[in-house]
Amino acid sequence: MLNSATDDFKQKLRGLLPQECFKELTKSYLEEPRGQLFGSGGLLLAPDNTEDVTKIVKACSDARVGIVPYGGGTGLVGGQIYSEGLVPVILSTQRMNKVRSIWIDENIILVEAGSVLKDIQDRAESAGCLFPLSLASEGSARIGGNLATNAGGVNVVRYGSTRDLCLGVEAVMPDGSIFNGLSRLRKDNTGYDIKNLLIGSEGTLGIITAASLKLFPRPEVESAALFVVRDPRAAIDLFAMCRDKFGNGLNAFELINGVGLKFLSEVGPKVRQPFSYDPEWIVLLDVGFNYGIDPEEVLEKLFIEAEGRDLVSDGLVAQSLEQRLDFWKIRESIPEANHRIGAISSSDLSVPISLIPEFITKAGKLLSKVGDFRINCFGHIGDGNIHYNIFPVKGENREIYKDKSRIVNNILYDLVDQLEGSFSAEHGIGRLKVNELCRYSDPTKFKIMKNIKSALDPLGIMNPGVIF
Ligand SMILES: Cc1cc2nc3c(=O)[nH]c(=O)nc-3n(C[C@H](O)[C@H](O)[C@H](O)COP(=O)(O)OP(=O)(O)OC[C@H]3O[C@@H](n4cnc5c(N)ncnc54)[C@H](O)[C@@H]3O)c2cc1C
Repeated sequence: MLNSATDDFKQKLRGLLPQECFKELTKSYLEEPRGQLFGSGGLLLAPDNTEDVTKIVKACSDARVGIVPYGGGTGLVGGQIYSEGLVPVILSTQRMNKVRSIWIDENIILVEAGSVLKDIQDRAESAGCLFPLSLASEGSARIGGNLATNAGGVNVVRYGSTRDLCLGVEAVMPDGSIFNGLSRLRKDNTGYDIKNLLIGSEGTLGIITAASLKLFPRPEVESAALFVVRDPRAAIDLFAMCRDKFGNGLNAFELINGVGLKFLSEVGPKVRQPFSYDPEWIVLLDVGFNYGIDPEEVLEKLFIEAEGRDLVSDGLVAQSLEQRLDFWKIRESIPEANHRIGAISSSDLSVPISLIPEFITKAGKLLSKVGDFRINCFGHIGDGNIHYNIFPVKGENREIYKDKSRIVNNILYDLVDQLEGSFSAEHGIGRLKVNELCRYSDPTKFKIMKNIKSALDPLGIMNPGVIF
C-alpha cells in the first residue's frame, strides 16, 4: 500500500533538500500531450544532483510514497502523468542538465538525464560530431525520458534507437542506492546488462540520472527527396532499393499519406505543399555520405531507376538545405495537424517490414465495416513502424465516435498480433497501454517482467501504475 506525500512528509524533505528543489506544480505536469490522461496532483521536486535524488528516493521508500520521474513531459502513453488518486512525488530532472564530459577521440558524451535532446545534438555539433537521435519533440524531450522510453525517431534506420546509442547509465535504484554504470566501454561482458534493463523501463525500476552516449562523425554531404509512390508495396520495394544502393548512407525513410497532406492544408501548421495535386502516398527519404558523393545526383539516379520499375511517378530532390528542411517540416508537422483535427484513435504499431502493405490493406477493410473514418497512416516505415491514426469524417465531431475507439483499437491490435507485430513500437506502455500489454504479451515475458519489478522495487514506489 502506498501513501500520499503529506505536508509532514514535505516538511521532512525540507530538512534534507535545498529550497530550489521545491517547485510549483503547474498544469503541464498534470496532462499528457494528447489530453488523454489527467494527473491528480503531486509534490514537484527538481533536484540538481544525484545525491539529492537518492535523498528523495530514500525518503519516499521510508514513507512508501510513489515517485513519478518526469523529463520533458512529451511521452505519449501517460507514463509521466500519475492519475491514481494519491499525491506522489513528481521528480523532475529539469535542473540536471549539464554535460559532464565529452571525449572527442572516443566519440562519447556524458550528460545528465535532464539534458534536452536538442541541446545534446547542438553540443555534439559544436564539437564537430553528430548525436543522431531525432524526434519531433526534441526541443522539449530530455535524454532521461528518451532512455526510459527507448525512443526511436527518424534516424533508427541508420543509427538504431536510443538503446543502441547508449553505452552506460547512472541511476538511483528504488532503495536509494546509486547504480554507477557510466561505462565508456564498447565491450563489457560481465554478467546481466543492468543498463539495458533500465532503458525502456519507463521509470518503473529506477531514476536515470546520467548517461554516456555514442557520438558519430557527421556525414559530409546530406540531402532529401520526396517521391510519390504507387502504393505502400512500392514504398517497401523502394526502401529495399535504397538499402541496397546506399547501405549506411540512408538516414531516414518515412511514409506520408495524402490524408496527412490534406490535414496540413486544412488546419496547419502551415507548410509548403510539395506537389500541385494531392498524391495518395509519398515517401521522404534522407541520405548522408562522407566520401565526396553528390547526394542530389544519387537521388535523381534512384528516381529514374525506381520510375523504370513503376514504383514512383513523381518526385522532388532538395536543391538546398532550406528545401531539405521544408520537406522535413511537412513530416514533422503531421502529428500537430492530427492533434488539431482530433483523433478517435492513435496507434504506434510495428509489423515485419514486408507485411506493412498487407497490414494497411487489411486494416482498411476491417475498419470500413465499423464505420466511415479518415485514416492518416504514416511513419518510420524503414523500421516497420506505422503511426495509424483514425479521425471522424470531415464535418463530424469525434465525440459521436467515442464508443468506437475501443472497437477500432481491438481490431488493429488483433491484426498486428496476427502479423507478429507490436501494438507499441516506440512509445512504450505507460498508463495508457497496460491492458494491451496484459492481453498481447508473451506470458513468460510478462511473468519475468513482474518478477524483475518485485525484486528491484518490492514496495512498488517507482512510477506506480506504469507497465503493470
Ligand atoms: C510531437 C511528438 C513527436 C514524438 N515523436 C516521437 C518519435 O518519433 N519517436 C518516439 O519514440 N517518441 C516520440 N514521441 C514521444 C516522446 O517524445 C518520447 O517518448 C520521449 O522519449 C519522452 O521524453 P520526455 O523527456 O518527454 O519523457 P517524459 O514524457 O517526461 O517521460 C516519459 C516516461 O519516461 C519516464 N522518465 C522520464 N525521465 C526519466 C528518468 N530520468 N529516469 C527514469 N524514467 C524517466 C517517465 O516517468 C515516463 O514514464 C513524440 C512526442 C511528441 C509530443
